[in-house]
Amino acid sequence: MFVSFEGIDGCGKSTQIEMFTKYLQSKGIEFVKVREPGGTKLGEKIRQLLISEEMTSRSELLLFLASRAQLVEEVIKPALEEGKIVVADRFAHSSVAYQGCGRNLGIDVVKMLNDFATDHVYPDLVFYIDIPAEVAISRINKEQRDRIEQEGLEFFEKVRNCYLELCKNEKNFVLIDGTKDVETISKQIIRIFEGLYKV
Ligand code: C5P
Repeated sequence: MFVSFEGIDGCGKSTQIEMFTKYLQSKGIEFVKVREPGGTKLGEKIRQLLISEEMTSRSELLLFLASRAQLVEEVIKPALEEGKIVVADRFAHSSVAYQGCGRNLGIDVVKMLNDFATDHVYPDLVFYIDIPAEVAISRINKEQRDRIEQEGLEFFEKVRNCYLELCKNEKNFVLIDGTKDVETISKQIIRIFEGLYKV
């Protein structure tokens, strides 16, 4: 089973992934945790380029896709074949929201390119952790912002609205209120997971 976590920067994804994987561990469920961009040797190099170098929106999209393609072949497909749970910190829907909407490249073209990059491997379950763009900006540490996190309110609003649309239109998407306290969110995530995966 393939589970991904999505949301704008500062939504609390990493904390929730940490809590979710601790839960999997406590149940003895085998899992592989991956992050995007990154998760492979090549992917981590691409990540460094993405978060530090200035580049055009199209180059940005293609680099995310290259990182994703490598991750799917090298890590995700083998793990799924071994019956493990794959827990992904971002996946294809990040590109739909960030590059498709945030960078105005268009949802359809990003979806088409995602199909190619992922070889049609998609999550069975997507937890989208929603917070308002203002909250996101106030949560991101000003000194440690990467290239993309330096974007303004308008950019994050576009990205958030795109995620909210995906929640309405895509199956397997679960909307989580990221303004609730971390324990409440974590329990909700585990409850939903248990409803689909027989522990
Ligand atoms: O989630 P994480 O902080 O690791 O992502 C690294 C950076 O890449 C973030 O600033 C995130 O917003 C950005 N990103 C992006 N497009 C994607 C995936 C991540 O702009 N498709």
